[in-house]
Amino acid sequence: MEKTILITGGSRGIGAATALLAAKRGYQVCINYVQNSTAAFSIVDQINQQGGKAFAYQADVSFETDVVTLFKDIDQHGPLQALVNNVGVLETQTRVEDITAERLQRIFTTNIISCFLCTREAIRRMSTRHGGFGGAIVNVSSVAARTGSPGEYVDYAASKGAIDTLTIGVSKEVADEGIRVNCVRPGFIYTAIHASGGEPGRVDRIKDSVPMKRGGQPEEVANAILWLLSDEASYATGTFIDITGGR
Ligand code: NAP
Repeated sequence: MEKTILITGGSRGIGAATALLAAKRGYQVCINYVQNSTAAFSIVDQINQQGGKAFAYQADVSFETDVVTLFKDIDQHGPLQALVNNVGVLETQTRVEDITAERLQRIFTTNIISCFLCTREAIRRMSTRHGGFGGAIVNVSSVAARTGSPGEYVDYAASKGAIDTLTIGVSKEVADEGIRVNCVRPGFIYTAIHASGGEPGRVDRIKDSVPMKRGGQPEEVANAILWLLSDEASYATGTFIDITGGR
């Protein structure tokens, strides 16, 4: 049976690196994106050209109807074995006293509710309690859950704290139903997310504060994600891997 993986936000950055590595590890890869179809289909093409199998699905995972349709669409590829809850957004760097309610709504909906909804749909398919064959889920949190991102985006950091707690709770809930749920917490990684915070060069500005004195590459996060999904991590659930260069 072919192994199917869904990577939310799999078209760019850490998600795209994870998609490419998953294909190399033999998964057929379902890549979700929200608006940049060019980036999504470029990753699909790369995988297909290398002899793998990939599909792109547009869905805004902060909307329940989109999530339900997304999972129904990927059901056609066979049982889902792996889910990477990778979608995460941040907004312009600011202090807490300047944060609007609308911004909080956007950040928490996109970063937290999307993760709950995708996890729910995955459990309904993977859990032995529901007749499934089991599976593995990896959530992409952030070192910000530990540091709090003062002066930049405390809202984003708090949303990642929620992802950590979700990981702990749900991993215990489904531990005897064949599903492992783990989490990676990246540090400063070279992707376009920093541009949406208003500072595309952020990693280079702060990399000297990292014990390893450098930013990380998306592939270095992808390696940890694929390990947590693999049978090599068969006794790991509810656990966290920080990919932060020691930060
Ligand atoms: P990125 O380069 O900005 O890529 C974001 C991806 O998410 C894109 O594929 C984007 O699709 C998709 N996306 C955004 N909103 C979506 C939505 N509502 N529905 C579906 N897809 C959506 O991000 P990244 O830096 O790789 O970050 C990936 C994860 O790592 C995030 O959870 C982030 O918080 C976490 N992280 C990143 C860093 C870092 O330094 N980069 C550090 C710690 C944690 P489109 O292409 O269609 O826009």
